[in-house]
Amino acid sequence: MTAPGPTILLATERDQVADYCRRMRADRLVVGTSGNISARSGDLVAVSPSGLDYDQLTPDLVGVHRVDGGAAVEAARDPTTELPMHLAIYRQTGAGAIVHTHSTAATAVSTLVDELPPVHYLIAIFGGGVRVARYATYGTDELAGQVIAALAERTGCLLANHGAVAIGDTLGQAYRRAEYLEWLCDVWLRASARGAPRLLPPDEIGRVGTRLAGYGR
Ligand SMILES: [Zn+2]
Repeated sequence: MTAPGPTILLATERDQVADYCRRMRADRLVVGTSGNISARSGDLVAVSPSGLDYDQLTPDLVGVHRVDGGAAVEAARDPTTELPMHLAIYRQTGAGAIVHTHSTAATAVSTLVDELPPVHYLIAIFGGGVRVARYATYGTDELAGQVIAALAERTGCLLANHGAVAIGDTLGQAYRRAEYLEWLCDVWLRASARGAPRLLPPDEIGRVGTRLAGYGR
């Protein structure tokens, strides 16, 4: 009879964070080591480390921190500098995972408007108009506060002159939303380069939101 091996803290979440970080780079949602990803389990969160090439990111290098205060529980490296933003989002929204990108179209849009114009019905997956959080220096509590405000009743937002955030119950869901957000921003940029795009009214976005909620069940 063999003794069970030692339990690895948040093994599944750390695995997923490392996996989606590499995907985020391959899918060109970030450049270099920018962007970051986390997944929550109870009082703990698995979060990508700071300044490490995603090619070299293995699950054991994904740190585990406490959601209240961010103390390291098991971390070989410093966490992402955006840890305060991740923790604030978890405390405020009850999300299970967060994907923060610097994707090109989302970042471009964040320099132009205060809210992403509703050019396509799929904006409804974010719960309505996608707001742009006001600019604050990266890694600060001020930025975390601006992002919390922009995320009210939403599952994604842009960060002015910075990037985008998408949240979800699971990392897979948060990641898909990050991809959709980038695509929506790209569509608006391309359309508005040729003229004034036709926009959808808020009541239609609400109707689509209701349909999508039913479709998912
Ligand atoms: Zn960032």
